Amino acid sequence: MTSENRHIHNALRQVKVDTPCAKVSGFSISGLATYLQMHELDFAIDMGECPLSATPINHVFLTHAHGDHARCLMRHHSLRKMMGVERDSVYYIPESICEGAKAWIKAEAMFEGVSEAKFRYPQIVPVKAGQRIFLEYRKDLAIEPFEVKHSIPSMGGTLYYYKKKLKDEFLGKTPAELIELRKQKVDITREVYEPLVSFTGDCLGESLLENRDIFKSRVLITECTFLDEGEEQMAHQKGHTHISDIVKALNKLDDEVKCDKIILNHFSMKYAEKHIRERIAQEIPAKFADKVEALI
Ligand SMILES: [Zn+2]
Ligand SMILES: [Zn+2]
Repeated sequence: MTSENRHIHNALRQVKVDTPCAKVSGFSISGLATYLQMHELDFAIDMGECPLSATPINHVFLTHAHGDHARCLMRHHSLRKMMGVERDSVYYIPESICEGAKAWIKAEAMFEGVSEAKFRYPQIVPVKAGQRIFLEYRKDLAIEPFEVKHSIPSMGGTLYYYKKKLKDEFLGKTPAELIELRKQKVDITREVYEPLVSFTGDCLGESLLENRDIFKSRVLITECTFLDEGEEQMAHQKGHTHISDIVKALNKLDDEVKCDKIILNHFSMKYAEKHIRERIAQEIPAKFADKVEALI
């Protein structure tokens, strides 16, 4: 293994990508660990490792049960307790795996010697596709999960910024007129949900076009496990995305791609950093080259 490979495979060495919505920091190599933190949005995706920097984050979304994504979910919970964070963080977990997650969480606590009497579950919110819910401690943000295809049940999500805007018919009014309308109980505002960040979790490439609205988010974080020519079939068999699937989606949607930034992650551990960058430079169409960045 070269020194470059050792460097890329250190899951506690975080990588940062700047985006217009939030800095995305974390790590994501297939099979090793995936965890992503967005401190400005008080939101984390997956917890394949839990560095201390994750402990202030109050909302954690688990995409699926594979160990490289889920392993340290309860380490996050217990580290917070150890560090004196009194507020319970909230764990958003796909409804279909919630019972399994709870059994696992309890078994882990019992294994660590917690008595039945003292055991209590962390705050878990089961999530369903298409159900938009406000984050517990950030009422200006809402998460809407969607289903993706993987070797086991897996979900992505879109994080929306919620605000109230003046209805078009009242745009030219003076502040005094608006106050008067409010007094008369006229509803002068409309609700706006702005898609900030979409993330896919582990998925087949076809899940991208099946959830094409994710390309309307300002930031898209999507897996790109396989990169080399001839690996397309294997990617499909293993439930993962090949870079050609991303190219296909970009070319098909073309001007419908509204993202400012598309972050690729979850590369196979067999690739070196240089190879990943070269393959992305070779394959991503020139029109999108400035938007696409690897989280390595
Ligand atoms: Zn994975
Ligand atoms: Zn997986």
